[in-house]
Amino acid sequence: MSETTTTKIPKKNESFRDSVATISKEGRRNFITPKKPKGRLYNMRTLFSIAYLIIFFTLPFIKVNGEPLFMFNVLERKFIFFGVVFWPQDFFIFGIGMITFVVFVILFTVVFGRVFCGWACPQTIFMEMVFRKIEYWIDGDYTKQKQLRSMPWNGEKIRKRTIKFIVFFAISFLIANFFLAYLISMDKLIGYITHPGGHVGTLISLLIFSTVFFFVYWWFREQACIVVCPYGRLQGVLLDKNSIVVAYDHKRGEPRGKLKKQEDHDCKCVDCKENGACKDLDKKFETLARPGDCIDCLACVRVCPTGIDIRNGTQLECVNCTACIDACDAIMTSVNKPTGLIRYASENSITKGVKLKVNTRIKAYSAVLLLLLSLLVFLLASRSDLDVRLMRTAGMAYNKLPDGRIANLFNLKLVNKTHEDIDFTLKLENVSGEIELVGTGKLTVKKEDYTNQQFFVKLKKEELQGWKTLVKIGLYEDNKKVKTIEAKFIGPEVYK
Ligand code: SF4
Ligand code: SF4
Repeated sequence: MSETTTTKIPKKNESFRDSVATISKEGRRNFITPKKPKGRLYNMRTLFSIAYLIIFFTLPFIKVNGEPLFMFNVLERKFIFFGVVFWPQDFFIFGIGMITFVVFVILFTVVFGRVFCGWACPQTIFMEMVFRKIEYWIDGDYTKQKQLRSMPWNGEKIRKRTIKFIVFFAISFLIANFFLAYLISMDKLIGYITHPGGHVGTLISLLIFSTVFFFVYWWFREQACIVVCPYGRLQGVLLDKNSIVVAYDHKRGEPRGKLKKQEDHDCKCVDCKENGACKDLDKKFETLARPGDCIDCLACVRVCPTGIDIRNGTQLECVNCTACIDACDAIMTSVNKPTGLIRYASENSITKGVKLKVNTRIKAYSAVLLLLLSLLVFLLASRSDLDVRLMRTAGMAYNKLPDGRIANLFNLKLVNKTHEDIDFTLKLENVSGEIELVGTGKLTVKKEDYTNQQFFVKLKKEELQGWKTLVKIGLYEDNKKVKTIEAKFIGPEVYK
């Protein structure tokens, strides 16, 4: 499970590959209790998460022309992106959009590793920036949490567990509601909430989803990233030695060793005569008492939410949360060493000092991405708000009317993808004759809806050019032609 994908380190003991931190030797769930992270990157991630959560909880309320800005209604097969409605007829655009997104994610991962997981994945944001923070607030930092876990069920434990249960479930319920709002729109959701009587099934579904979210954040946690997430599992094939990931600089850090008392000065010269007063960093590193900078303090391991030791190299469990970077930087600062022993870096930059190289794989993905993006832009630009399909009604050739005219019955399917009802009229363009709508005097298509309208085309025999005559029918909206439809009008052979 613990498979190293890129970073090689000069460490012989590789027993870490034989197990995952979340499962004990006895095969039981091993709860990771990470130390509360703090530092520059953690602060940046907190700010980013606040913005992310504001957007997540605000978007369902935003409307464009009375429609949600985003909606992914799988049941009704209706998708809205940035206020533009996509119907099943547009599904190929949606499909191309999804493929483009996947290629983008692959390219992004090849270059920047799992930066998405650490900074933008909803699972990490909710787990680390919402539920974990609440846990620190209720239970205290990692030592207090461990104490609480091992203590018997006394008043304090019952109180803390009850508060945590209620808060976790309430937030899970809120998240489930907002996910539903993304599926069915906020208006519908509010309708369900204000009139719950007829929507007991929806409420039950919501409670089931809330329980799933609650289970994930209460118990399952980092295993969603390690065991379930397919993106995480792909890292082994997506990352290479050029990928920028959270990495331990093994060249600088190894061989690791505990900080000795003598080294506890600004100056670490072997032959220090100045009792730590010397600040000559160059000299310090030339004549360092210990060869490696890692003081084996395990601060990076203590903060890791997936329980790994990043010094073993890049591992599938690493979600690039950067907590170990902050922890190690704080340690390096406290022992007067340069920060960045753990940092965003590629294996090649650590071992060979080379910057990001645009290799063949990156070029190939970029070319495919460019092609897909061009195709997507073309499809979106040429996408029409109106879908028109005209077919002759099956099983009918022509009718001879009492006044001698010939009539053909057609079936017109109109899809209105706009946010307004549209009244259409039909006019014959290249022949004189009559169009008669079946069953209605008006051809109206409601917003984001479709209609099937049958109509007769009636032509005098003089208009016919044989048993098959091409007729052009203009489709008008408010006297403005929106489309010309062509149809084959069938008549008897005798009129040729
Ligand atoms: S190794 Fe570092 S970046 Fe990776 S998950 Fe652990 S703390 Fe986060
Ligand atoms: S925090 Fe830094 S110094 Fe401490 S064990 Fe980790 S890599 Fe080594």
